[in-house]
Amino acid sequence: MTIHQNLIAGEWVGSNGSENVNPSDTNDIIGVYAQATADDVKQAIAAAKAAFPAWSRSGILERHAILKKTADEILARKQELGTLLSREEGKTLAEGIGEVTRAAQIFDFFAGETLRLAGEVIPSARPGIGVEITREPLGVIGIITPWNFPIAIPAWKIAPALCYGNTVVFKPAELVPGCSWAIVDILHRAGLPKGVLNLVMGPGSVVGQAMLDSPDVAGITFTGSTGTGKRVAAASIEHNRKFQLEMGGKNPMVVLDDADLSVAVEAAANSGFFSTGQRCTASSRLIVTEGIHDKFIAALTERMKSIQVGHALKPETHIGPVVDVRQLKQDTDYIEIGVKEGAKLAFGGERLERDTPGFYLQPTLFTEATNQMRISREEIFGPVVSVIRVKDYDEALAMANDTPFGLSAGIATTSLKYATHFKRNSEAGMVMVNLPTAGVDFHVPFGGRKASSYGSREQGKYAAEFFTVVKTAYTLA
Ligand code: NAD
Repeated sequence: MTIHQNLIAGEWVGSNGSENVNPSDTNDIIGVYAQATADDVKQAIAAAKAAFPAWSRSGILERHAILKKTADEILARKQELGTLLSREEGKTLAEGIGEVTRAAQIFDFFAGETLRLAGEVIPSARPGIGVEITREPLGVIGIITPWNFPIAIPAWKIAPALCYGNTVVFKPAELVPGCSWAIVDILHRAGLPKGVLNLVMGPGSVVGQAMLDSPDVAGITFTGSTGTGKRVAAASIEHNRKFQLEMGGKNPMVVLDDADLSVAVEAAANSGFFSTGQRCTASSRLIVTEGIHDKFIAALTERMKSIQVGHALKPETHIGPVVDVRQLKQDTDYIEIGVKEGAKLAFGGERLERDTPGFYLQPTLFTEATNQMRISREEIFGPVVSVIRVKDYDEALAMANDTPFGLSAGIATTSLKYATHFKRNSEAGMVMVNLPTAGVDFHVPFGGRKASSYGSREQGKYAAEFFTVVKTAYTLA
């Protein structure tokens, strides 16, 4: 098999490869991807540093053209790249193609942003002096991404980094190098100068750590687990570098007595189980008031019976496999923990056999859970959801906010009063009314609070906050 190599200083390099395995069928080897060493990372950072002065002053039409060309190619290849994504991550083909389309939209959006860069001209407090406020690129940006959105998350970090004139060293997650390699290849062929974008694939402990340890990385944008995020933060403070963290969630969805039952059930099923529950915005805590509780559980378990778990590329599949054996063990360990803690296993909980060897797990529902149980407090990151019964809206809101995390929160209600109150009082970065907690737009800010996020928001115009630094210049007229 040919090796998909790393891109360092405009050259494809590396011979030592690791296999990318399909979680729907572990006999299917998608490709072999080079593993960078700490020394490769140093060279990539040096190349990005050398490329920065010219790229940071490059014309906006050059940047626009490269980002637009990239968007167009990704979109034209959405079927092929969506298939690659579903093969390496295990989400369904429809979700894979949807995510690839999203990546194209993000590159298209930031292509447009290159033409809208602006500053402010403000009168000084001192007569005869002018004040200009401008945004400048940071320098070398380190990008570290997780496995669960193999193309969208790299896109929403790489596109703004390049748009605002930064150079990049990009380290994708070990489990999903395929889509990352593909977008780097597209950007490279679209005309990026040597060293502006470097790809270093390999383990976090080697490749990621070498990025954290470098004094020449001016900013790190990270998405992944809270544990790794803390390491990124500590190392970045050590180097006095800007950093941005998007991390875990334990997102609540409140269902009130007055909810439209079918809307609530669909939002809960989507939030909890689609993408195999492997979304940072997935809802794994359903907080349900007592008047609708039994009806809701009966309808949700009925809905769960219709969910087909199977090979990600089969058209009848609603939920693909868990991403790998380690994540599968984490999910089944938490199912055991839930049973031991005294929650009632109302549906699922079993591993499934399919025609091909893969990591298949039934969607799983616990009822009679409390908010103090570990299954309600810790991120499981699988298709495992617990239902907590509450008396009324006030108790539901308090419980929704009683979590170390704060990424997304949802409410199902037909009451304008409760919907409005929840939007104002939820302690999450994103609030959804009668919608799944997952599923966001590409042109508006994304991010959370508390242990879910640190630093400024990603996506849309708000991305400029991280990827630029503000300069205030005074001129005697
Ligand atoms: P992870 O923390 O294990 O890995 C994330 C990335 O960090 C990977 O590229 C990994 O190789 C790298 N890494 C690991 N150790 C490192 C080190 N010592 N130094 C530098 N880099 C290192 O997370 P994961 O398992 O890939 O992803 C799942 C997590 O991501 C979940 O917690 C999920 O909630 C979170 N997530 C959050 C968001 C969000 O926007 N809030 C979005 C998607 C996923």
